[in-house]
Amino acid sequence: MYDQNRPQRQMHDVSSLGLKCTECGVDITELPFEPTKRDDGTYGRLYCQPCNRNRRKSFGGGGSGFGGGGRRDRY
Ligand SMILES: [Zn+2]
Repeated sequence: MYDQNRPQRQMHDVSSLGLKCTECGVDITELPFEPTKRDDGTYGRLYCQPCNRNRRKSFGGGGSGFGGGGRRDRY
């Protein structure tokens, strides 16, 4: 069985914006979303892919799980 409905992630080329990762300061060349400029002229906090992953992993730290167990798909 193939998962045809899997949403495709489109990467946005942001290399021309000169963005840097808030966490480690590396240049960000692409993002999974389109950054939007705020009133203060910045794009807010943006992270490179590795940092994003780390943040997500440790997000909400401590405690394993929420809802415990079964995954329910509902529409
Ligand atoms: Zn980073």
